[in-house]
Amino acid sequence: MSLSVAIVGSGPAGFYAADALLKLELDCRIDLIERLPTPFGLIRGGVAPDHQSTKRVTKAYERTAQAEPVRYFGNVHLGRDLSLDELRQLYDAVILAVGSPKDRPLEVPGAEKRGIIGSAAFVGWYNGHPDFVDLAPDLQAETVAVIGNGNVALDIARLLGKTRAEMASSDITDYAAAAIEGSPVGAIHILGRRDAGHAKFTNKELKEMGALSDCAPIVDPKDLEAGVPADLEERDRRLAEKNLATLKGFAELDPGGKSRRVVFDFCAQPREILGGDKVEALRVERTRMEAGRAIGTGETWDLPCGAVITAIGYRGPAIPGAPFDDRRGTFVHDDGRIAPGLYAVGWCKRGPTGVIGTNKADGDLAAKQIVEDAGSGGKPGRDRLKALLAERGVRYIDYPEWKRIEAAEEAAAAPGAPRRKLVTIGDMLALLDENRAGTASP
Ligand SMILES: Cc1cc2nc3c(=O)[nH]c(=O)nc-3n(C[C@H](O)[C@H](O)[C@H](O)COP(=O)(O)OP(=O)(O)OC[C@H]3O[C@@H](n4cnc5c(N)ncnc54)[C@H](O)[C@@H]3O)c2cc1C
Repeated sequence: MSLSVAIVGSGPAGFYAADALLKLELDCRIDLIERLPTPFGLIRGGVAPDHQSTKRVTKAYERTAQAEPVRYFGNVHLGRDLSLDELRQLYDAVILAVGSPKDRPLEVPGAEKRGIIGSAAFVGWYNGHPDFVDLAPDLQAETVAVIGNGNVALDIARLLGKTRAEMASSDITDYAAAAIEGSPVGAIHILGRRDAGHAKFTNKELKEMGALSDCAPIVDPKDLEAGVPADLEERDRRLAEKNLATLKGFAELDPGGKSRRVVFDFCAQPREILGGDKVEALRVERTRMEAGRAIGTGETWDLPCGAVITAIGYRGPAIPGAPFDDRRGTFVHDDGRIAPGLYAVGWCKRGPTGVIGTNKADGDLAAKQIVEDAGSGGKPGRDRLKALLAERGVRYIDYPEWKRIEAAEEAAAAPGAPRRKLVTIGDMLALLDENRAGTASP
């Protein structure tokens, strides 16, 4: 009897789980269920549009999607089109790989003002994620504050600092490229509550900040005096050494006549958003480090700014039927096992940490656990899912249809760019339905 496995979410974690199951060469059918028509999760909607080489990892996912036991069901939203309980009745095992798509909120007075934007929304906006195409962030500001000291904060600052020409080989959406080009922003402040040695930037991304054609990195050499923190483990220590050397190089650079600046503000804890309906300034408290923790000193200053983008972490979506840890923002699980036949992988299991490849081990483990737990299978799986979606009038998108969307995006690309994304689900469906005659997928 064949084992039926549903994987919900087609980001890296979902694909690595499918691949791990394929490698076990079981008699198994694997259905990837994705709420968007398009696959690949944050590789399409999160990874920076000027980092195309990172996005090439999807070539491996593509082989997985096209393997015989695997089918893709895009445009199917668990929790809206069908419930988790229904899915569990249809499949021998269900793997949740739904990521952490929600911003952790900035919990300071005034955070509800206009002009405070979470990074999930801002990144989704410039990357053409259908949920955020209408965000229309107001970038008519001379100063933008980006809160956070990880790579997402760097991505955002870099994109605000790059020229149109530097973005020509990216797949940034046209509307975002135009808004950034038309913004009068001169200063982009990156604020971290801890010191430079505790910043989570990877060194390769940090270095990029020193190589922009019309944007200079600004670092106060005093912020580097503390050196490599004593509390770090060996791996973090090596990272801190490299980052401090890079930041020292920035401190010595002459910003020259560049029209934009990225200013690194360390030991800077946001305390309040000031202004009327809209943000006018950020009140910041100076911190000092004590055993790896940032402690407020009571000294504050106001940073006038017209927009604040928070890049302070993400939370998973709660799905009825799966216990959710509200504090961690992940499902409650025991080493990936949520309940009999229900597993979690990727960010919805571990929280939003690590690089793309970190998600692979979760898939390997889930596949192993399924083999241990599932017995011989026998649930109806795919056929019943198709029938249920048909009954409910859910227009799902299969992999050949996604390839047609992809081909249209590539054909529409500006010279030098990889693609021009379709950014609404309506446009994607219209494209497929226009071309439907004679091209039905198996
Ligand atoms: C802005 C940003 C930039 C990044 N850049 C890099 C980088 O350059 N290099 C790197 O190594 N890592 C990077 N990462 C980290 C990397 O993207 C993550 O490690 C990885 O995407 C996590 O994989 P995941 O599958 O758990 O989640 P995701 O990639 O978020 O995938 C989850 C999928 O589940 C789908 N889904 C959610 N809810 C439902 C539902 N109810 N029903 C059906 N489907 C659903 C979503 O639409 C999505 O496709 C970045 C992360 C962010 C946020």
